[in-house]
This record gives sequence, C-alpha cells and structure tokens, in this order.
Amino acid sequence: MTAPLLRAVLDDLPGYQPAAGLYGGAATMRPLSANESPHAPLPGIREVVTAAGATINRYPDPDCCELTAALARVHDVDPGRVLVGGGSVALLQLLLHAVAEPGAEVLYAWRSFEIYPVMADLAGVTSVRVPLDGDDHDLAAMAARITAATRMVIVCSPNNPTGTVVGDSELRAFLDRVPPTCLVALDEAYHEYVRAPGAADGRALCDAYPNVVVLRTFSKAYGLAGLRVGYLLGAPGVVDRLRRATLPYSVNAVAQLAALAALGLAKELLRRVDATVAERTRVRDALLAAGWRVPDGQGNFLWLQLGEDASAFGTWCAKRDIAVRAFAGDGVRVSIGSVEDDDAFLAACAEWRSSTMGVKT
Ligand SMILES: *Cc1c(COP(=O)(O)O)cnc(C)c1O
Repeated sequence: MTAPLLRAVLDDLPGYQPAAGLYGGAATMRPLSANESPHAPLPGIREVVTAAGATINRYPDPDCCELTAALARVHDVDPGRVLVGGGSVALLQLLLHAVAEPGAEVLYAWRSFEIYPVMADLAGVTSVRVPLDGDDHDLAAMAARITAATRMVIVCSPNNPTGTVVGDSELRAFLDRVPPTCLVALDEAYHEYVRAPGAADGRALCDAYPNVVVLRTFSKAYGLAGLRVGYLLGAPGVVDRLRRATLPYSVNAVAQLAALAALGLAKELLRRVDATVAERTRVRDALLAAGWRVPDGQGNFLWLQLGEDASAFGTWCAKRDIAVRAFAGDGVRVSIGSVEDDDAFLAACAEWRSSTMGVKT
C-alpha cells in the first residue's frame, strides 16, 4: 500500500520522548526530568483558573491585550515590543519559520536545548552547531561561524542542559560582531534563577540591539508549565511582523488569566525561586562533596557530566522511580525538585557511586 507523501524530514525526527511513568493517572515517578516548579499553584492562581473555566465556550482574546499590557509595564517597554505565545517554544518555532528562506541557517551552541535541532529541521532551516567550550557557550567560535546565510542565532542562558550562563560583556562583544540583519534569540527560560554576578540580561540587550529578541516563559519560575504561555520582547519592527504570523487563539483564555494573576503574585513566586536556588546549592554541594563533576548551574536543574555512563545512570534512577533526563554519551540533567525528591535522587547517586566503585576496585 502506498502511504501518503509527507516531507522526508519527518522520518528523521527523533520525536520528544518524555520519561515513562510521568503522565496519566498511574504516574509513579519523582518528576525531576522536565525542570518544572515543584510548588503547587498559589491559591490566588487556582481561583483564577477555576473562575476562567466558566467562560471557555468563548474564544480567548487573540491579541492577549491585558497580558501584553501587563508585561509591557513589568519590563517598562511599549506593548508593541511584547509578543505572547503558547509557550516560549511556540515562539521559537515562529522565529524559525520567520527566517526560513531557502538556504537559511540557524546557529546555536551544542549541546543545548534538544528542541532546537528538531524545530530547525521542521522549519527547513539548516542547523549549524558550535560545540560548547567545556560547559559554556563558545561565543568567539560562534561569531566566527556566522556567514551571509546565517539568519538567526540562538543563545540559551542559562543553557539547558549544562546550566551555564553567558556573561554580559562577552555577549555584548558577540552581538557587536553579528550583522544587524541577523536575528539573535536569547532563550532566557530560567532567567529568574540566575544568581551569578555579571550574567547577561536580555531585557537590557534588546534595547541596545534591535536584532535581539528575548524569550521568557511562565513555565518555570512562575509555575504555569501546564498552561503553556511564554513571551518575547524585541524591537517593534520585528515584533510587529512576527505578530502577523502567529496562530490565531493559540494562547488559551485560562493561560492568559493565570499569567496575569502570576504577575500580580510575582513577589511570592520569586520567593519560591529563592528557595529553589538555595536547594540547588544544597544538592550541588552534596554532589561535589561526593566527588561528582557538576557545573555551577544557574537554572532550576543541574548537569552531571557522566560521559559514557549517562544512559546507564538514567536507567539506574528510573529503576528507583526517579525521572531524570539522560543524554547518551554525555550527561544527565536533573531538576531541582522538592527536598524529598532531591534527597531520593542524592540517595540514588550515593548508591550508584558505591556500586560502581565496588565494580572498579
Ligand atoms: C523549559 C524551556 C523553555 C520553556 O518552554 P515553554 O514552551 O515556555 O514551556 C524554553 N527554553 C528552554 C531552554 C527551556 O528549557
């Protein structure tokens, strides 16, 4: 039988493979694989979500007017510089489609967010990957790889999965070398967790560089991963053209209202972020003391450099009902979760070390 003709690129896509045991009524795993907030939504958010249920027979505001205005106030920019989307990943997809002329290339560090190559392939944009320097972006090498075909550069800071940030002065020096015709997307999904002094802040950079857009999300620090809402800040001339290409009604009404409520509760939510940052330090210190190699991650996750042992360690954790994200041959990313889940993870790490040490000696 002849199958319908679909683009050949679909055959090669890996597909997103979430850890088993995380979804459905019988979820049993400790969820440390997706960098979610471990905190249940605040009562103020739950109330808004419940109330919003009463109006879901109506389409949502396609322009997200109230949320856009609120974000513009928070970031002290004109609303014309804000674009809300159904998760920052949807905005990333929009950006790739927006630059996808034949022959277009997108440049990014590797390893970085696993979705970049998939979305680039789907958009028909050629990926150019520049290896990390250790765990860090190699901005000099990236600048050297820019050609006339480079239509977009993605800089992920903190970088998923290594957790490292790019410095403000290094990023400015890099941006000075990027042609103004080439878009630069700063993926700052974990911005609120950054404590490293001197880290770049996209909000300031997109004022100075009209080719820079900043991606932020309500999925992590603001605890709304299940509702799918993120946003982009950029120059009006860029944002205006992107806005025309958005999928109508792609940010649902519940998400819009919950995100608005979350902005109103930012103080409380950011206190939770402080707690996660403290927990990140506790977990990392414990791992370092036990002899693990763990970079100074600035997101709500840590990166364990395991090389050839990465997959086996991922399976080891899964057998103990702990979902982590393993990248074969490279490392394992583990989210900072509740103290109880993190302690279970640290216990699995200790067992792993004593068992493998036992094998090796
Ligand atoms: C989690 C994450 C996002 C957020 O995606 P949403 O679609 O907003 O949930 C974006 N970029 C990176 C690098 C991430 O890790």
